[in-house]
Amino acid sequence: MALSLRPNCEYCDKDLPPDSADARICSYECTFCGDCVENHLSNVCPNCGGGFVPRPLRPTNEWRPGVCLAFQPPSTDRVHLKYSREGVAELAARLRDIAPERR
Ligand SMILES: [Zn+2]
Ligand SMILES: [Zn+2]
Repeated sequence: MALSLRPNCEYCDKDLPPDSADARICSYECTFCGDCVENHLSNVCPNCGGGFVPRPLRPTNEWRPGVCLAFQPPSTDRVHLKYSREGVAELAARLRDIAPERR
């Protein structure tokens, strides 16, 4: 199963197309933009408490048979945070000083 390439930032709803270098993901594929990860989330995923990494870019070209964006297309289901901004800030404040590998 391929990584789910989600179309938007869960926090600010910015579009994050598959070729965006601005997309960040946690280990559960929760997806946010770089600005929100840095300035609103403090590298704390509001859904799981984990840290973020840049989302890998899926190849547009079919370098290997059946393996590229056309065969494993991005998701079109926009995802929106189910927690309040206050709740997100509270979790971020609690976890921001703990390195992701120690959470
Ligand atoms: Zn955002
Ligand atoms: Zn997460």
